[in-house]
Amino acid sequence: MNVQEKLAILADAAKYDASCASSGSKSTRSGSKIGSTEGMGICHSYTPDGRCVSLLKILLTNYCIYDCQYCVNRISSDTPRARFTVDEVVSLTMEFYKRNYIEGLFLSSGIIQNSDYTMEQLIAVAKQLRVNEHYGGYIHLKTIPNAAQALIEEAGRWADRLSVNIELPTEHDLQRLAPEKKKPQIVDAMQGIRSKIDETKSERKAGFKAPRFAPAGQSTQMIVGATETPDLEILKTASELYIGQKLRRVYYSAYSPIPHADARLPGQSPPLVREHRLYQADWLMRFYGFDANEIVADSDQNLSLDMDPKFAWALANRHFFPVDINKASREELLRIPGIGARNVGRILSIRRYKALRSSDLRKLRVAWNRAKCFVITADSNPNLENLDKTDLKSKASPKSRQLMLFDTASSALSGEV
Ligand code: SF4
Repeated sequence: MNVQEKLAILADAAKYDASCASSGSKSTRSGSKIGSTEGMGICHSYTPDGRCVSLLKILLTNYCIYDCQYCVNRISSDTPRARFTVDEVVSLTMEFYKRNYIEGLFLSSGIIQNSDYTMEQLIAVAKQLRVNEHYGGYIHLKTIPNAAQALIEEAGRWADRLSVNIELPTEHDLQRLAPEKKKPQIVDAMQGIRSKIDETKSERKAGFKAPRFAPAGQSTQMIVGATETPDLEILKTASELYIGQKLRRVYYSAYSPIPHADARLPGQSPPLVREHRLYQADWLMRFYGFDANEIVADSDQNLSLDMDPKFAWALANRHFFPVDINKASREELLRIPGIGARNVGRILSIRRYKALRSSDLRKLRVAWNRAKCFVITADSNPNLENLDKTDLKSKASPKSRQLMLFDTASSALSGEV
């Protein structure tokens, strides 16, 4: 099998992994001659759901000794198999990079022989790129749970970001669909990365020249809709990982049906809007001070699909409103639908000099149609009388409009809700 044929198989096999984005890459490694993400002015591109599209995203191999039912690469699958050598991945990365096709490498793998052996192979690629090729671009390596801590430390030395995929939100889900995977082992692997990141940071703070360790932090992926587990459990697991393991990102990936799937798996993907709502809720937990239990209040423990989670929370908690734009705390302002974190910062600085009126909010380009029924401003706001009305949802919902082909929803990029 030639390299092109392997690439076709192994790039296709990697497409199910959403846990890559180079958002955490700040600077180029000093002394690197090739792969500078700053000096050459290369920009990172994101799809509307936040995924980075300019990485070479491949598996080292799609052979795997595990039998995770949701995965096309499981041992019992009859998918075509391939395996790159370390040299082939290094050469592909360099060739693609020099042609400006990619900005970095995302490398994952099925588990071959055992976790340590697989991890060694992934490390060999990253090390060869850094040491032999002087490659300074972005590298995201998948970490195999159960791999020795020494190997994880070695991986973090060469990679910008590491990720361990939790895949399913609960231990029960893992037992059903991925019996070889154990949540405590996955969390332990994350803990190992977190400890090393913390250690490196504190050594550097103390003035020691500690070698870099995964400067873009760690991330994970959760598959959504492969089981009946509701959004509340998914968000609780995400929150637990953000707090406990200081993850940079949790990526939510809607389950894609695979050929010859187990009967316990659904025959179709969940609606993509569910993935989008989870990203919005994730943003609320990380930057707006919301707790998972507050965001998902519905009796079926799932996020509403027809309105964003912040607006849904506001409708269910009308007693919290109206919020006075000129007096409320930062935490209160962050809860107003239609006013994002950036605008909260602007409001706080402007109101030190003047009292804000409705027209000022519109000039700040807050989503006035959504915010107007929830705020007190310096002038009289006639929309406030709608706060107790039963049709508040329709009055404050964004109007339907024809989407443009190139009209990227700004909230998808900025995360503001
Ligand atoms: S360990 Fe990874 S590659 Fe292997 S079957 Fe499970 S999800 Fe797929």
